[in-house]
Amino acid sequence: MTAPDYAIEAIGLEKTYRASGKLPEMRALKGIDLKIRRGSIFGLLGPNGAGKSTFINILAGLVTKTGGTAKIWGLDIDKHPRTSRAAIGVVNQEITMDPFFTPLQAIELQAGYYGVPKAERRSMEILTAVGLDDKKDAYVRQLSGGMKRRLMVAKALVHNPPVLILDEPTAGVDVELRRSLWAYVRELHDNGTTIILTTHYLEEAEELCDEIAIISHGEVLAQEPTPQLLSRLDQRVLKITPREPLDRVPPDLASLNTVLEEDGTLSITFRSSETGIGRLLEQVRSAGISVADLSTDQPNLEDVFVAMTSAPA
Ligand code: ADP
Ligand code: MG
Repeated sequence: MTAPDYAIEAIGLEKTYRASGKLPEMRALKGIDLKIRRGSIFGLLGPNGAGKSTFINILAGLVTKTGGTAKIWGLDIDKHPRTSRAAIGVVNQEITMDPFFTPLQAIELQAGYYGVPKAERRSMEILTAVGLDDKKDAYVRQLSGGMKRRLMVAKALVHNPPVLILDEPTAGVDVELRRSLWAYVRELHDNGTTIILTTHYLEEAEELCDEIAIISHGEVLAQEPTPQLLSRLDQRVLKITPREPLDRVPPDLASLNTVLEEDGTLSITFRSSETGIGRLLEQVRSAGISVADLSTDQPNLEDVFVAMTSAPA
């Protein structure tokens, strides 16, 4: 099949979980529109309960949508449930695996499940790639959380899908393994795999993803290339080190958004579209402060995220 422009296309995707027991009805997705370009490392970023896993699980065929359409690799998931899903490998948020199989057996079983012919299986190659070749005959229950996560990644790759979807992949993975997991994900990406990951770690999305969608309460708040998303928020912080230590923010600067930090620096938060640094410095000097040093901070995703999710509806 010729490669489509978009790995994933969702239009008006809806999910309402029916009330059950004490749980009321839950409208988890309220009309999600998302186009995820082939070849990207795409981050679906949002707080817990935003609907990230619901979105992923609809694509994976684990949750039935209640409205809208979705295409995987150009194929409608309703019309082509099997072939569309052959294009994705999904690593679920929860670690789920049979404790009585070894990693090699687990991989072989998964390959069988996907109908990969024996001659085309690359089980050892995949295990080596995720750093589990020396554990191939261990029982899964003997593996650490990080190793289990990597085995899940390996299982998601047995049918060589062009799209790899990772739902909160660093949950329960220690820092070192996280780094090696990301290195491997980047390698897959370099070799042409489209990567989609969900996270509520802002730095993670910022560091890894070339495009980010922010999702909150079942709605997409923004979808943009990472640098553009960052620049959308024109908030800057000017940090000033005064020559003489201050014991409080000078009254003349009270009208500005100024904080005296514990290390003695003054942080002035401003919008670069409204004020220039030159003008701020004039105000600082006329407040009687002599400037020893100054720097400005770019906003990070956390700032963008807070600004967007706290904006009045
Ligand atoms: P995220 O992955 O972003 O944390 P989820 O998609 O898991 O969010 O959940 C979105 C909302 O749907 C949450 O309020 C969650 O409690 C609810 N939810 C998720 N799964 C179910 C389910 N099986 N039944 C009922 N409600 C659910
Ligand atoms: Mg989730």
